Amino acid sequence: MKHLAPGGGFLFSQRPDIFIREDLSEEQREFGATARRLFEEEIAPKIEQIEHKGIVEREGHTTPLAIDFLKKAGELGILMVDIDEEHGGLGLDKTTSMHMSEMFVGNASIATTIGAHIGIGTLPIVLFGNEEQKNTYLPKLVTAELVSCYALTEPGNGSDALSGKTTAVLQEDGHYLINGAKQFITNGAWADLAIVFAMVEGKYSAFIVDLHTKGVERGAEEKKMGLHGSSTTALVFDTVRVPKANLLGEIGDGPKIALNILNLGRLKLGFSSLGNAKKVLDMTIRYCLDRKQFGNYIINFEAQKNRLAEMTARIFAVDSFGYCASGLIDEAIARLKGGEDHASQTVKVLRDHALEASVMKIAGSELLSFVCDRCLKMHGGYGFLEEYHVERFLRDNVVDMIFEGTNDINRIVIFDFLVRRAMSGEIGFREGIERLETDLASAGSEVNVGCISEIEILLKGARLLVANLLNQVLIHLGKAVRTNQMAMVNVADAVIESYIAYAAFLRMNKLQMRDEGNPVLLQAVVRLLAEHARTKIIALTHETFASILPENLRAVRLAEVGTLCAALPPMADLFALRRIIAEEVSDAGKYNL
Ligand SMILES: Cc1cc2nc3c(=O)[nH]c(=O)nc-3n(C[C@H](O)[C@H](O)[C@H](O)COP(=O)(O)OP(=O)(O)OC[C@H]3O[C@@H](n4cnc5c(N)ncnc54)[C@H](O)[C@@H]3O)c2cc1C
Repeated sequence: MKHLAPGGGFLFSQRPDIFIREDLSEEQREFGATARRLFEEEIAPKIEQIEHKGIVEREGHTTPLAIDFLKKAGELGILMVDIDEEHGGLGLDKTTSMHMSEMFVGNASIATTIGAHIGIGTLPIVLFGNEEQKNTYLPKLVTAELVSCYALTEPGNGSDALSGKTTAVLQEDGHYLINGAKQFITNGAWADLAIVFAMVEGKYSAFIVDLHTKGVERGAEEKKMGLHGSSTTALVFDTVRVPKANLLGEIGDGPKIALNILNLGRLKLGFSSLGNAKKVLDMTIRYCLDRKQFGNYIINFEAQKNRLAEMTARIFAVDSFGYCASGLIDEAIARLKGGEDHASQTVKVLRDHALEASVMKIAGSELLSFVCDRCLKMHGGYGFLEEYHVERFLRDNVVDMIFEGTNDINRIVIFDFLVRRAMSGEIGFREGIERLETDLASAGSEVNVGCISEIEILLKGARLLVANLLNQVLIHLGKAVRTNQMAMVNVADAVIESYIAYAAFLRMNKLQMRDEGNPVLLQAVVRLLAEHARTKIIALTHETFASILPENLRAVRLAEVGTLCAALPPMADLFALRRIIAEEVSDAGKYNL
């Protein structure tokens, strides 16, 4: 079986076998279905109360609804997935965890409450805690008997998160004293404990802090644009005593903990955006099948078919990419030797897939933004009304592009990671460029083999263009690239576009080999994606070359790009592709891939 190397290996791989949604096991699907039932059957009917931070009364106690649902998720085993069996969890694979995140649909406030608790609020203990810390906290976190949060951001340090001003000073009695302020903390009003980052003698470190300790002050609830049912507050630490035993990992492990936890969080965020994108699209298809103007259903107007087709194709791409990425991580974890340092080996696997995590975060969050924008417009004036819910999805989605590292920062992560892999020789960058060039020289003779070959050649061309773009950026900017973020962002965008389209192609290919799926629809979707990848990458290349290349080289390098593009199949009839996709989806009455 051909393996896809993470972090840039996709540029030069030859039809690797990837994990696809259709490979999900019965057990994985059942976990997803449990999460979906919770969101659709129990949470959805309470949307109004959740939006207004409703409370419930049980046995004389009042609990915020969001926490009530968090505990319900605990009862259903939803919080156990990422935690090993020894500590009260189920120790399941990352694909199950991602599939469940995808099913957290329709209420981003509750999804964020659960995600902050069991993701960023718990995983630092799972991956970096010692046995005593795991035994003390994990069994209570999987049931939500204790609620957790993650306190990294400070008023003066957001994107530049690793240089916070909070301090922890060790006292002679074996306690640290923590002083400082954290900002924008999800679950801030409700959490019992927090993972708090603080400087210890100039080294950023992480602590498990009991938020009921004297000196902890919770700020007022922030008035937000969206996620109205979630809690976001400041946390102030005024001489808070924390036992030495609550230091996570070693002094100075803060950056390692913060960045690796974010990798998983970014993947999960991408998956939950994907689930919501499908949900909004389905709501909109139903609306447009019912609403008539000019004597015709909205769904039948070509301007709307255009939108429907583009949303469907993009969802298919992000879906294909997400499961490809989680499959790569699970494969790498399965190859680990086991033993006592399993957690630290898992951390290394996650670090190796940082590029995939950032691609999924950006592609998922921007997919949902694209889908909400189009779906709101397809509802006309009703889209602007709360009653139709699309506006809530749109408001709630905005923060997906801000937290877990803004999408700008994630684009820089993609660029940095790719350069590191290219320079280290791990992805065979130089040889890869030469091999792809040879392959493409014979591309013209392959194009008449059929539609799959045309798509494959197109995507080979797109990947070569990305590699070529990166190559020229490195040659002509060298270390100065650090001061040219426009070039870095263009490379990252080219990577995202080509990687998700390639994953879509590999999934289609796997399905066709197994004689599964609707071949006409699949080919239309993947061809549309491949065409967009080509168009976008050519535009990014022209723009970048026009800026970074010396004038005497510009024409030569652009002519080379022109020669390469001339060897690619001509542009397909995009109108026809969109009609095929839109008609299949509207006949099905929902996203059906
Ligand atoms: C609802 C909500 C919940 C949150 N939950 C949590 C939580 O639970 N725990 C937690 O620790 N944090 C949390 N955050 C904080 C969040 O992670 C930060 O808001 C985010 O990292 C951005 O930081 P900032 O807001 O300070 O923006 P800034 O860092 O000031 O960024 C402002 C702008 O500048 C850009 N920018 C910054 N640096 C660069 C650069 N080097 N290159 C290019 N562009 C750059 C950014 O992309 C952005 O567009 C939450 C935020 C919100 C809104």
